[in-house]
Amino acid sequence: MKIHSRKLSFTRPILASFSGILVSFILIAAAVILSQRKDILDDYHSMNRNFTHNLAVLYTASVLRENEHMLDRAAGFLSHNDELNSTVITDRKKGLQQLMQLLVLMPSVSSISVADVDGHYLRAPEIRTSANEPAIDVKSRPWFAHQAEASMFSHYTSTYTDYFTHRSTISLYKPVISPEGNLKGTLAFHLDLTSMGYTLRQMKAPVQGEFFVVDRQGQVLLHPDTGAMFRHAIGTDLMESMTSGEGAIYDQKSQTWYYYYAFTNPGWFVIYNVSDATLSDLARHETLIVIWGFGMAAVVIVLFGLYLRHSASGVLMNIINAIKTGDIKQTPKLEAMLSTAIRNSKAREQAYQRQATIDALTGCRNRGAFDKDIAALVAQGHPFALALVDIDNFKSINDTWGHLNGDIVLRNVAREGIQVMQPHAVSVYRYGGEEFAVLFAEPLLEQAESLLNDWRLNVTRRDWREEGLHVTFSGGLGEWRMEPPEQLIATVDEALYKAKQQGKNRILIASPR
Ligand code: GH3
Ligand code: MG
Ligand code: MG
Repeated sequence: MKIHSRKLSFTRPILASFSGILVSFILIAAAVILSQRKDILDDYHSMNRNFTHNLAVLYTASVLRENEHMLDRAAGFLSHNDELNSTVITDRKKGLQQLMQLLVLMPSVSSISVADVDGHYLRAPEIRTSANEPAIDVKSRPWFAHQAEASMFSHYTSTYTDYFTHRSTISLYKPVISPEGNLKGTLAFHLDLTSMGYTLRQMKAPVQGEFFVVDRQGQVLLHPDTGAMFRHAIGTDLMESMTSGEGAIYDQKSQTWYYYYAFTNPGWFVIYNVSDATLSDLARHETLIVIWGFGMAAVVIVLFGLYLRHSASGVLMNIINAIKTGDIKQTPKLEAMLSTAIRNSKAREQAYQRQATIDALTGCRNRGAFDKDIAALVAQGHPFALALVDIDNFKSINDTWGHLNGDIVLRNVAREGIQVMQPHAVSVYRYGGEEFAVLFAEPLLEQAESLLNDWRLNVTRRDWREEGLHVTFSGGLGEWRMEPPEQLIATVDEALYKAKQQGKNRILIASPR
């Protein structure tokens, strides 16, 4: 039983299909969202790498190269003839003027120093030292080029404290070497790290993060925020892992991405750090829109699933109704086959119904049909009349000619009755054994008695095959007077009884009570 109902269910396959669609949809959506999130993060990484690259190559390097170029030219000038000697010893005034002219051309240089190999020294702008102050020993300055350093290259010092300003600084310096190859002295530019860092403020980072320049030890040299200068921003472990020319490193401890670009001379690093939380937030924000889109689509799928389930139940209900009522509208192809099946099923059902209401032996309507029909007439409330008919002496007919012939008599009496009544659309019922009933509704009420007598006379006059067989019947007829059907039947039965008593082969009208 359960198996059959499952096979007939529309809902199960629909629910199964839509659950399948929904599950695949969710899996696809999850895959798309995850890969999209990865793409977004990759995009941000490459954007941040580009920013770091540009910060190093377009900004920091160009400032450094500009200063190096000026240093080259100035050192070249000082290396000729007696220029260095004249600047630091013989004509210091003119020397100072020349250095000042050079200084104003370089906004990122705060002062210039020139020294000869013996330690004679000139600084622009000049600092006057009082007589009791100890004279500066330039040979101990980090920018002072000793014999061993004599080369054509520029050098950068590490961070050191300026003798005069007591501020941390870095110097760019170059040995002054004559065309003949003699080391004559040193030319040094003292960098203004604060103003160099300050110009970093012009740069706009693609996502929120911190960018600055550090030395190999991770100490900040240039920073848009002057307060952050010279702090140890990056641990040695992290600095040591920055082994490529440029790249990105993720620091588990601080959960931060470090994008870097490494210079060789000076050994500085441009750093741009962005916290993982910032990147995740950005990615989440972008994926959220897609998640919303997928969510809406999932809701639409569910709604269509529910609609299909609902309408399938509707179709099923329509089919059930059509089978019940046999009422179908003209429909094409597949639906037409269904309609035909419904129509055939209805025709079969009607045939069964007919068979169920017909008495097999006599062909009359049966007792069940009689009970139903009389109840319907009573319910309608219109006038009608009932006749009960009983074959006379049937017992002796059976006894004399046998039960089989008794059946034949029964069938023929019924046939005579049907022939009389059918043209008037009146049914003859087999009430029981050898008794029949007839119901006369309007407008046949007046005609009832004469129709019954027609039937009776036809039976009486009939010639039977069996010799000496003569068949008659008696009947009672009564009009309905709003009483319950059993009472009417009893009244008519009484009239029938009287007809028997009065000698049979007659119809008696029941007298109203
Ligand atoms: P009355 O004139 O008073 O009606 O006498 P009766 O012999 O007809 O009396 P009763 O009604 O007692 O007898 C009816 C008989 O009809 C009894 C039963 O054996 C017989 N009978 C009932 N149904 C059938 C049937 O289907 N076929 C045959 N052959 N006999 C039947
Ligand atoms: Mg009888
Ligand atoms: Mg009888």
